[in-house]
Amino acid sequence: MTILVTGGAGYIGSHTIIELIVAGHNVVVVDNLCNSSKISLERVERITSTQIPFFQADIRDKKALSDILDMYSIDACIHFAGLKAVGESTAYPYEYYDNNIIGTLNLISVLRKHNIKNIIFSSSATVYGEPATIPITEECPKGKCTNPYGWTKWMIEQMLMDLHTADPTFNIVILRYFNPIGAHQSGLIGENPNGVPNNLMPYITQVAVGKREYLHIFGNNYDTPDGTGVRDYIHVVDLARGHVKALEAINRNCGVAIYNLGTGKGYSVLEIVKAFESVNGMKIPYVIDPRRPGDIATCYSDPQKAQRELGWKADNGIEEMCRDSWNWQRRNPNGYEQ
Ligand code: NAD
Ligand code: UDP
Repeated sequence: MTILVTGGAGYIGSHTIIELIVAGHNVVVVDNLCNSSKISLERVERITSTQIPFFQADIRDKKALSDILDMYSIDACIHFAGLKAVGESTAYPYEYYDNNIIGTLNLISVLRKHNIKNIIFSSSATVYGEPATIPITEECPKGKCTNPYGWTKWMIEQMLMDLHTADPTFNIVILRYFNPIGAHQSGLIGENPNGVPNNLMPYITQVAVGKREYLHIFGNNYDTPDGTGVRDYIHVVDLARGHVKALEAINRNCGVAIYNLGTGKGYSVLEIVKAFESVNGMKIPYVIDPRRPGDIATCYSDPQKAQRELGWKADNGIEEMCRDSWNWQRRNPNGYEQ
């Protein structure tokens, strides 16, 4: 198949492109590079020995999108493009709704005009809010989000489902990611946050590489075995492979389908720190800070639906995730900046 990948220069998109190419698909990438570098795609070309058609364009630009779609015969779109920083979304809600909601509406409008009705959307476990049950199954009701970023995921899911209700020839796969970490084994591509990392693993690797003095652990008084927050970390390469499986579901005319992509296992912040230290043979100094507003104690998936229906499960464990995160950071202390 030929796949339009929006946001393909980013962290998850770049890893997914590799798995798509390995599975024999063609890709066309659209990204405005607002949170990424073209170097990631050059590295993907090196890893796959494949030239990747890339267009630097904003998904809010209908004309640019339309011109691109005129040039290719696209079978499906994997839609990664979006802003994703939780804290930033609270400070800049307009920008988040504009980019994520308007961007997605524009994309859908142009896809429809080109009769492209197969869409895979990057959603997030954040739509469960404070989850009603743990482990979280897809049956767990969507909750109340604690920030505009989460609401954009919540709303886009609803938009896509309504679209399918009105026109059942749309095939929509909503993938709810848990906590992607790790990097491609080559160490050539990985997560490259701007400024101070919001997420745990890039913060740890920046402490490891000497860019930051301490990890700040946000709270050790949660109702969890060691008091620190528990999450379901998933290797980004496993996550990427989930998209290839989702394309197979689209090929079977799945209608609307929602899948959790996680490992089903929760690790606390302290467990992650210990695993990172033991796998990579180093110490990560940390301090305990107050809880971060909006954080919940525990969040991990029940990933069985994806296994049952897509034949997908995560193969990599926490050791591989810690090893590959560090391999990427140590080889690229400044990310994609030379
Ligand atoms: P990322 O920021 O690395 O990738 C997103 C890409 O989209 C970037 O390359 C950015 O330049 C591009 N982009 C943003 N707005 C755009 C626009 N208007 N037009 C064109 N390109 C645009 O983020 P990521 O971690 O790879 O996440 C990919 C998707 O997965 C996002 O939708 C994100 O919300 C979602 N997601 C991520 C996580 C996570 O922890 N990384 C968890 C759940 C869901
Ligand atoms: N966390 C932390 N210090 C950091 C970043 C995160 O202690 O610098 C904790 C956070 O409170 C949560 C877990 O690590 O319990 C995962 O946070 P992250 O932001 O990576 O993902 P989230 O699940 O919040 O999307």
